[in-house]
This record gives sequence, structure tokens and C-alpha cells, in this order.
Amino acid sequence: MSAKIIDGKKIASTLRAEWRVRAENLKKQGLQPGLAVVIVGDNQASSIYVRNKMRACSETGIYSEVHEFPESANEDEVLCRIHDLNENPKIHGILVQLPLPRHFKDRKLIASIAVEKDVDGFNFNNIGALVTGNAVFLPCTPYGVIKMLEKSNIQVEGKNAVVVGRSNIVGKPMALMLLEKGATVTICTSKTRNLAEHTRRADILVVATGKPKMITADMVKTNATVIDVGINRMPNGKLAGDVDFESVKEKAGYITPVPGGVGPMTIAMLLCNTIEAASRAQVKV
Ligand code: NDP
Repeated sequence: MSAKIIDGKKIASTLRAEWRVRAENLKKQGLQPGLAVVIVGDNQASSIYVRNKMRACSETGIYSEVHEFPESANEDEVLCRIHDLNENPKIHGILVQLPLPRHFKDRKLIASIAVEKDVDGFNFNNIGALVTGNAVFLPCTPYGVIKMLEKSNIQVEGKNAVVVGRSNIVGKPMALMLLEKGATVTICTSKTRNLAEHTRRADILVVATGKPKMITADMVKTNATVIDVGINRMPNGKLAGDVDFESVKEKAGYITPVPGGVGPMTIAMLLCNTIEAASRAQVKV
């Protein structure tokens, strides 16, 4: 039997409608949530992601501004702008669009964002808080995955969860969040021996490797929940995930598509974190 498709686009759209109301209510109280995006260099994919984020903000009633720097900019200029944004009361969330040019140190820029404005949840303080189960902001992609599981009534507690990929922005925080929810978690990497032996034990399998269609049906347990974070542009111009959707959907219980799965949830959770940051700023005043 074919797996149930977890429709990220639909879940994200429902959540965004709820958050639009929250943003409107804040605006009525004189506080429009505001997001600033810092982008350095002219990476085409990054420019598209930033445009999508700006559009999503505008549709949700969030004020947004982009701070663009040329590839030749130096780190101090960008750090100086982030410091200004940290002090700017119109701005409640700040994110630095990754990847940065090679001569920049991601960690240094991200660490300069005030914790209460770090809506991507990537700075050391936020990651440390997540490790101890006290996250200030949850990183948007894994947060989106957790929301999808919740909205699909998929229980996490007591399940075997396997995360393939250990990046700081997806794999590691994903594993921590599943752990926090009571799953028994395994993290696999490019160094893992006999990957399929691990993935076949997963009740919940989250894949974030950037390797198109690498998870095939023989690597998946019958009726497992398979979450595909990967977004890969194929030679024919189409998008594909890290999971071989056509074969795996015949074996899994639930599966996310690409596109239309985790991608829309990532943007939705960024909006959520920005509105949450504004609400917290309001409480402080
Ligand atoms: P990274 O390249 O930072 O990390 C990839 C991870 O996958 C690494 O930990 C690597 O292991 C692991 N890996 C690579 N090959 C294998 C393999 N054959 N077996 C097991 N593990 C492997 O990628 P990201 O985490 O940033 O992104 C992963 C994918 O998710 C990409 O396709 C990206 O475009 C997509 N993405 C999607 C988002 C969304 O909103 N849907 C948001 C962010 C990313 P090792 O550490 O040993 O090298």
C-alpha cells in the first residue's frame, strides 16, 4: 500500500494563516513584527531563498528588510550592521543567509546576533540552550519537521529515530529535538558503516544529506515515517529529495514529498520565530 503523503505546503499554509492573525493583533497593539536578513555575495540560490522569505513576511504582516553586501565586503562592516540591527527596536529577528563567502567566518557573524533576535536559532547560546532542553528559538528546518510530525499525529516518544546527516543547521538540532521528544536517536554520517542496517531500524527516518535519492526502499522499514529534508536540483532542472520517493512511498507508512514537504515548513517556522520574538519584546516593554 502506498504511504500517506505529509503535505508540508498545506500544513504550512494553515499555520501561516494562524500567525497572520497573531501578527495583526500585535500590530493593533502598536508592534509590527520585523525581520532583517543579511546577505553577502551574489549566490543565486541564496537570493531566491531571501526573496521567498521576504514575500512570506509580507503575506503574514511582518515588516522585513534586506541588508545586501557585495562579495568584497569585509567582516567588520557586516558585524557593524548586525550590531546596529541588534539595537533597532523595529527589528525582532535577524538572520544571516548562508552560505557566506569563504573569507567570512559563519560562526563569528552568527554569534554576533543578539540571542533574543536569533530567529534561525543557530548561535552558540541558542544551540547550547537546545542541548539542555531550554531552547530560546528552535532552528527552523528541524522545528518544521517536528511540527509536521505533530500535525500528522505521529507519535515520537518511544520510537527509534534515525537522522542521516549531522550538519549544525539540520542533522544535529534535529537529533536533539527528537531526543527531547523521547525518541531513541541514532545519527548517521558519511562515515557510518552499513548505513542500511541503521536506517532499516528507524520508525522515524529523517534524511538530510544533499545526496539525491540515496535512500531506497530496501533501506526503509515497512510503515516507517520518512522525512526528506534534501533539496537537490537534478540535471533535468527538476527538484529531488535525498529519498527515492517513488520506490520508498510503496513501503513507508508516511512520507514527505520534495518539493512541497519540509521546504515550506522551514519558512513557516521562520515566520513563527519572528512573531514569537516580537511578542517577547512586547512583554519586556
Ligand atoms: P551538509 O552538506 O551541511 O551536511 C550533509 C550531511 O550529510 C553531513 O553530515 C554528511 O556527513 C552527511 N552525508 C553525506 N553523504 C552521506 C552518506 N552517503 N551517508 C550518510 N551521511 C551522508 O548539508 P545540510 O544539512 O545543510 O543540508 C542537507 C540537505 O538538506 C541539502 O540537500 C540541503 O539543500 C537541504 N536543506 C533543506 C532545507 C529545507 O528547508 N528543506 C533547509 C536546509 C537544508 P559528514 O558530516 O560525515 O560529511
